[in-house]
Amino acid sequence: MGSTVIGNNEELVASLVSKVLTELSNRCDQPSDAGDGLFNTVSEAVEAALEAQKKLLQMSLERRKEIIASIRKAVLANNERLAALAVSETKLGRVEDKIRENILCATKTPGVEDIQPTAISGDCGLTLIEHAPVGVIAALTPITNPTGTLINNSIGMIAAGNAVVFNPHPNAKEISAQTALVIHKAIVDAGGPPGLIGLVRVPTLDTAKELIEHPKINLLVVTGGKPVVSVALRSGKKAIGAGAGNPPVLVDETANIRRAAQCILDGASVNNNIFCICEKEVIAVEEIYETLIKFMVETGKVYLLTPEEAERVTKLVVTPEGKINGSYIGRDVQIILRDAGIHVGEEYRLAIFRAAKDHPLVWKEQMMPVLPVVCVKDFNEGVEFAVKVEQGNRHTAVMHSTHVEHMTRFAKEIQTTIFVKNAPCYAGIGLGGEGHTSFTIAGPTGEGLTSARSFTRERRCTLAESFRII
Ligand code: NAD
Repeated sequence: MGSTVIGNNEELVASLVSKVLTELSNRCDQPSDAGDGLFNTVSEAVEAALEAQKKLLQMSLERRKEIIASIRKAVLANNERLAALAVSETKLGRVEDKIRENILCATKTPGVEDIQPTAISGDCGLTLIEHAPVGVIAALTPITNPTGTLINNSIGMIAAGNAVVFNPHPNAKEISAQTALVIHKAIVDAGGPPGLIGLVRVPTLDTAKELIEHPKINLLVVTGGKPVVSVALRSGKKAIGAGAGNPPVLVDETANIRRAAQCILDGASVNNNIFCICEKEVIAVEEIYETLIKFMVETGKVYLLTPEEAERVTKLVVTPEGKINGSYIGRDVQIILRDAGIHVGEEYRLAIFRAAKDHPLVWKEQMMPVLPVVCVKDFNEGVEFAVKVEQGNRHTAVMHSTHVEHMTRFAKEIQTTIFVKNAPCYAGIGLGGEGHTSFTIAGPTGEGLTSARSFTRERRCTLAESFRII
């Protein structure tokens, strides 16, 4: 996970950002049309999406594939600019990791191949089951992954034959608009209809509400925290909810401890821990607890906080009311530690500390590169505790072990959508692991790692009696 020149070149980033912001503010003076995919109002975006979806359905599947290919290519061509802008606007994550996020979404989000029909052939004839589009989708996207979610959702939703209107997080509006412009242009360049993706130019909670309630929206796809998932589920519409997680990583005495240490560092520090799947607390059995900590420190990238330093950092990042201090979410470890009066070199990516079971960072989704490491007596206690801290999110869990029965039992008991064995968390979303990627992981509503098929409705055509070829 080496950093790139782009990641460290502040001047280049600043000049790119200023150019983009000027372009964007010029655009805001322009009237809405489906020309670039940015709209002043929710209803204009929805109307344009309706028209565009009708046109898409009149086009061939080959054309749809060309549209998807064009989106993938355009995202990759604009990747470094989008990654830099995402970090500079939201102050979350790391440019080099945003670049990896965008590559992952552009290349490993399934396209039209994901909606293959199935056929049943028997004594009563032939039945064909097809995955039909739902129509116009409303997608709410998080501040943590404004580019990845937009790219991933756009490809999946269009591949399934839908149009989509995005209401991004208000504090990621510039980067979301820039990403939408790139995707929209790619669609039109490939002969697709303008307005197939639309984005509300100035997104607010009011525009989100208006979009959720809009009568012409057929499906809500919400990627965010628990409260917004609840809003979508109470809407009375069909909703896919991709909510918060608090992924535990359990390490038992049979694990390859050196490898576990490296994997936990890689997973927990990616994008400064803002991915919902990132390891949020380590639970290690007593027998290997100190060895794991020692090996993590020996990577040269993990800073071990003393108990007194850990207390100072906790006071900084957890408010007196017990909430996570938003100003430190997604920030580099150097910034967090500096504000706690601890100065560490650029080589560090993660801080860890020996934590009691009731430490707030064990229970809260901290989304920053400060990781509590909890000691448990043995595997049984580890499983029981990990299940508790996951808190029924059914999101992600990680385990390092070579004991097959241990791994099976933990997977069965924790019931998460993603279960990763002996790898960093992100192997579970296809980065260094098999399978497609998704940035909308729907635990609460059960679709799992969403893809084109998740954004369809099933339709059946039955040809009774004689229509078989055998
Ligand atoms: P958030 O819930 O604050 O916002 C998500 C989106 O919902 C934003 O567009 C926001 O404007 C909108 N929103 C928030 N409250 C709303 C309300 N009451 N009514 C209407 N719209 C509302 O989340 P965030 O801080 O942007 O993102 C981080 C959270 O998202 C974390 O909890 C993380 O775990 C989760 N997340 C989950 C996944 C997943 O796939 N399961 C992926 C990324 C992030």
